[in-house]
Amino acid sequence: MQVKNLLNMTKRTQHLRLLLLFALLLVLVVISVRFLRPLFQPAMFRIVTCKCDFCKDAAAPIDSTGELNDLNDIQLEHAQIGGLKHPFETDSDFQAALDSLLQNNILIYVEDCRYFKVDDLYHSHPYLVPEAVNLLKDIGVEFQKRLKENHLKAYRFMLTSMLRTDQSQYQLRRHNRNATTESAHCYGTTFDITYNQFWDGDDPVYPPKVRAIFTQTLIAMRQQCRFLIKREIHQSCFHMTVVVCKPGLADSTKQIMP
Ligand SMILES: [Zn+2]
Repeated sequence: MQVKNLLNMTKRTQHLRLLLLFALLLVLVVISVRFLRPLFQPAMFRIVTCKCDFCKDAAAPIDSTGELNDLNDIQLEHAQIGGLKHPFETDSDFQAALDSLLQNNILIYVEDCRYFKVDDLYHSHPYLVPEAVNLLKDIGVEFQKRLKENHLKAYRFMLTSMLRTDQSQYQLRRHNRNATTESAHCYGTTFDITYNQFWDGDDPVYPPKVRAIFTQTLIAMRQQCRFLIKREIHQSCFHMTVVVCKPGLADSTKQIMP
């Protein structure tokens, strides 16, 4: 009888130990997912920036609308508030300052990821302010969510222009009549996304339904005042400027310069 009791107790202790081990493993998994997951994101997404009520708390005035027709003046106003204090005159000035801009998280290098692809850039540089990179991720997440709801693959969109210097803006003006003298692209807040081409892995695709879903995504996010946007017919792209929160509401306390 005593031996049987002893055996039962040993079994119970073993069960208890297993249960404790399991609970410990569960806690470890939760901690890993919570804290380590951000480390598996591309470095460009690791800087968290503002998340406010953009229609109410934007650094410059903006109204909610479903129209994709924000003119250059208002895009420029938001770019000057949310981006580089002074645009770079030449590409060599920009290259000379680049290391410091990156080290201080003033600009972020933008590269291909699961949400978008970066086109070969001839008149701009693949760098944006963190808020704009954060926005690109949010557009990608929302776009792919809507694709999934429509039983479509996780297509990627493509960026065709980002940061310009006065010099690259001048060169572009000789090719493109939409390129104005003073461009929001010079502040690191503004980018172009083509609406003509999407990507299935590394293959370009042109399904009209995907384009329609992408446009719906942008309309919904424009209604939330996440960006300013204009459909550029001649360039087949959306010209977009990120909206940033009022300084006191931004998560990051970085000083925007130079
Ligand atoms: Zn543009």
